[in-house]
This record gives sequence, C-alpha cells and structure tokens, in this order.
Amino acid sequence: MWLAKKLETFKKQLNFTSSGQGNVTRTSLAIDDIIVMNQIEDLDNTLDTEMVYQFIVCEECGITHCKPGDWAAIRKAGGYILFIPAFAWIPGEGGEENEYLPPDYLTIIGTILLTEEKFAELKTLVPYFDQYIEFNHLTNSEALNLFKFEAPQNLFGALPRLSGLQRERLLAASEGELGQMLDVLEKEMRKLELEESEISIEPISENEPLISFYLDDTQAAEWKALYKNESGYGLIIGERFKIKHFQSLESLE
Ligand SMILES: [Zn+2]
Repeated sequence: MWLAKKLETFKKQLNFTSSGQGNVTRTSLAIDDIIVMNQIEDLDNTLDTEMVYQFIVCEECGITHCKPGDWAAIRKAGGYILFIPAFAWIPGEGGEENEYLPPDYLTIIGTILLTEEKFAELKTLVPYFDQYIEFNHLTNSEALNLFKFEAPQNLFGALPRLSGLQRERLLAASEGELGQMLDVLEKEMRKLELEESEISIEPISENEPLISFYLDDTQAAEWKALYKNESGYGLIIGERFKIKHFQSLESLE
C-alpha cells in the first residue's frame, strides 16, 4: 500500500494504423514515477458506475478489453481514494480468470492511496475523473480481500484466487501464544466480512500497540497484522493503515 506523492502526465506518439486509426497522441499518468494509466484518453466509460477501469490499455489500438488484465477499481475509505484490484470482477463473468487481473504495479508495490487533495490534483491532470464528486465506498468484502492481497509473501495465496490464511507458515507472534493470536486475527477477518459496517482507513499512529507475526521463512519477515485499542483488536493493511469498521446505528439497536 502506497501513498501517492508525485503526479505527472506526459504525451506520447502511438501508431494505431493496424486498427485503421493512424498516428495518434496519447497521455500517460505517472504516480511516483510509475505509469499507472498509459492512455488516459482511452479510459472506457462502460463501467463508470462501478468505478472499474482498464488502467493500462492496448498500445496498438487503445481499445479496452483488446488485451486481458490491468484493471483496477477506484474506491473511497476514510479520507482516502484507493486504486485497488477489481476484486468483484475476478474471475470474470465468462470464467476468464485473467481478464480483470490488476496491473503488475499493484501486485508488486501495493495498492495506491490518494488523499482527497491529491485526487483533486489528479482531476486537473485527468479531466475524465471530474465526473466523480461521490465515490463508491470500499465494501466489507473488498476490505477483506485487500487485507489478504496486501499480506506479505502470498500468505493468503494470490489472485485470481485468494484463500484462507496459511497458518502453518507463521512461526511466532510478537505477543501471546501464536495459535491464540491467529484465532484473534481470523475472528477479526470474519467480523470484517460479516458485520454491516462502514469501512474507514486511517494511518497507524506512532505509539499504537501493534501485533506482528513472524514468517517461517529464510528471510525471517515480520508481518504487522493487528492493532490493539481499548475496545479490542483490528486489522492492519499494508503495514501502515488500520481498517476501522463502525457498526451502523441500526445494527447496534
Ligand atoms: Zn489492441
């Protein structure tokens, strides 16, 4: 998970003659020097209401779906706009597992977070997104999938098929007995999946008590997975942000 800092666009010339369009000029969007959208003029509007787009389109014709993969969803949670895998679309309707897989940069570096100010800046560079005043909110199931997707070393498998936690790969917890702490973790995951609640994402504060797990791995990796507060535990995604879910007033009654 990565907080966007630098936004840039640049023009490029492309040869679309194979699809009868001749030579064209297109604009790429880079976030922190990574090309996040390769041809913003070719963003396809068919899934506008879902806020799901092919971020990297075919460089020979600019037509969405010409090649598989490189899809992402735009979501809001707390004060952030997120670019995440289009989880609900994987596997695709026709069973085409690769059709809606995310761009490699989301898998390698992590999902992208923009503050609302950064997204406003993005709109000046990508006018297509001017239409978004309201955003689709990150759902419970998307938050759970994001937690799994952001866990280190494919502890929950990899897309297109995220799975349950591979408990046997964890060696120890930073506090308490490993089995008990893993039960706490799995309980928090179930709560996130089942509770009707609004999801928010907030940065971990400096002295926040965290619980890490250690991987059974040659390069002994630490996985910051849980935070602790007066009301219990919660999940951390991408090592830096906590998932907060607030029960609606209705479900508290
Ligand atoms: Zn093409």
